[in-house]
Amino acid sequence: MTEKLSNDSILSDPDIRQRCRDFERNFESVSRNIESACQKAGRKPDDVLLLAATKTVPTAVINYAVGHGIKLIGENRAQELCEKYGDLKIKAGGIHFIGTLQTNKVSQVVGKVCMIESVNSLKLARFISQKSMEKGIVTDVLAEVNIGGEASKTGIDSENLCELLYEISQLKGISVRGLMTIPPISENSDANRRNFSNMYDLFIDIRGKKMDNISMDFLSMGMSQDYCEAIMEGASIVRIGSALFGARKYN
Ligand SMILES: *Cc1c(COP(=O)(O)O)cnc(C)c1O
Repeated sequence: MTEKLSNDSILSDPDIRQRCRDFERNFESVSRNIESACQKAGRKPDDVLLLAATKTVPTAVINYAVGHGIKLIGENRAQELCEKYGDLKIKAGGIHFIGTLQTNKVSQVVGKVCMIESVNSLKLARFISQKSMEKGIVTDVLAEVNIGGEASKTGIDSENLCELLYEISQLKGISVRGLMTIPPISENSDANRRNFSNMYDLFIDIRGKKMDNISMDFLSMGMSQDYCEAIMEGASIVRIGSALFGARKYN
């Protein structure tokens, strides 16, 4: 298992070495693209956080990336997060949970991440709040919105969002910090842009309502294929995996 290698053996593992080199090159071009999208949109580069989506990426490569400028990572699965956690050179303050989270896995995740981006039901929110209170912390979350309607499978329908946010705002162990979405994959870039701009409208709309215990600081949208479009439409977190680490290898 490459993930268990010590620093010395990493240097002699050609696969890891290659992945680190690839990361460095990719990181440069992704950073340039983010900067130029910000420039086009009239936004400051500091307004957009780059989250490295690290599912399937060995910890040795993640740690290399963290040593070379990555400040925020996102993991998808509770089990993978737990397996990697002890070896990561980035701790809870730099880790988001971005995958579908089952309620029976919540206690494994709470405390290991500074934000859970994928809150898609009141039931899940209640579990996160409960486990957070048991650990004496408040967990920041984003509400995951199903912006593409029926075409995308997870997330809260936008019509139900306000009501659900109101319910979540009552929970003591949770602080809502914004919205997240994974829009349906589309070849049509107009449809893509429309989903992102609908998300932004929703984000601004809710921000304007000034609900207690709900703040709209972060809008997480855009992945490897479409992060520049997402930035143009107002994303403040882009979640990028394969454009940084290459195609995912599932073992
Ligand atoms: C894997 C993943 C990403 C990154 O996907 P890429 O297309 O590789 O950039 C972003 N968000 C979520 C929720 C993911 O699971």
